[in-house]
Amino acid sequence: DRPAPPDAFDLTPVGLIESDFPDKFGIPRQPGLASAARASLVLLPPFDDPLTVRGLDAFSHLWLTFVFHQSPERWAPLVRPPRLGGNAKVGVFASRSTHRPNRLGLSLVELVDIDTKRGVRLTLRGADLVSGTPVLDLKPYLPWAESRPEARAGFAPEAPPTLPVSLSPAAEAVLERREDGVSLRALIRQVLAQDPRPAYRRDVEERVYGVRLRDVDVRFQAHPDATGGTRLEVVEI
Ligand code: SAM
Repeated sequence: DRPAPPDAFDLTPVGLIESDFPDKFGIPRQPGLASAARASLVLLPPFDDPLTVRGLDAFSHLWLTFVFHQSPERWAPLVRPPRLGGNAKVGVFASRSTHRPNRLGLSLVELVDIDTKRGVRLTLRGADLVSGTPVLDLKPYLPWAESRPEARAGFAPEAPPTLPVSLSPAAEAVLERREDGVSLRALIRQVLAQDPRPAYRRDVEERVYGVRLRDVDVRFQAHPDATGGTRLEVVEI
């Protein structure tokens, strides 16, 4: 008789994320949609030994396994993906929902830099993670094994459509005074182009929404555009 497999596992974070996203609201729903989004993965002791990342600099992309620590532990067999408008339901395992058993997340991110001067800090691009996210594991991405452009992707067959985004003169003036103005402008545009408004509020046009990016609060509003679609305007930073 073989011993029964363990029915629970203890997992220890190997690192923590510091990102441009202080809050969940506004974060793109998959990695790579906002290439201007900066993040660091800071390894925790005893994993912060530079030996753990020896050879990693030869890889351009990484898989991160992490915990959706800001999601509730409760889960349900059906979820409502925002991609389906927030009404239609699919099975939790047919989705990338954050409300799932074990709350495990998986993101493919670009590795920009590795700093081992004090501990280990990896600079990442395109992460879809809130600041403070605990990372359980990281490993190199192997394009020859893991890229399948011909794969069927159910209700999310391609990247979501984007909205045009403009900035008010007042918002532009704030960006001009900032050292990181160029990259912050790119981040704001990329994040808002994904239309972070909740699906069920999209008809309310006068409402001003706020999304926190880096150290700023970006206030924006939706307007009808010339073609009957929607555009977003940053009214204030
Ligand atoms: N790429 C990952 C995956 O498929 O497992 C994440 C997909 S999930 C739909 C992306 C959303 O997770 C983001 O839009 C953000 O709002 C949310 N999120 C990011 N970090 C989180 C965290 N630590 N806890 C809870 N939600 C988080």
